[in-house]
Amino acid sequence: MNNIIKLLTKEAAMQYVFNCPAQGCNFSVKVETENSDWATEKITEVSLFHHNHAHPKMTPITSEQIRTLVIPIIEEG
Ligand SMILES: [Zn+2]
Repeated sequence: MNNIIKLLTKEAAMQYVFNCPAQGCNFSVKVETENSDWATEKITEVSLFHHNHAHPKMTPITSEQIRTLVIPIIEEG
């Protein structure tokens, strides 16, 4: 499941949109940056916060697990 949509916005800046995979949840976080490391950190941080506060009954997820999902998609191209 690909929950991150990568859009080319300007010459160098990339826009990453992360959509919460939970059913019925419309949460998404948008990050615009030229730095993929920063994008990974930001998406991980915001996603973790969202998961813990919006879905406390779902299986807990760690920042490492989120990174594992986010990094390959961000580094794809
Ligand atoms: Zn959610």
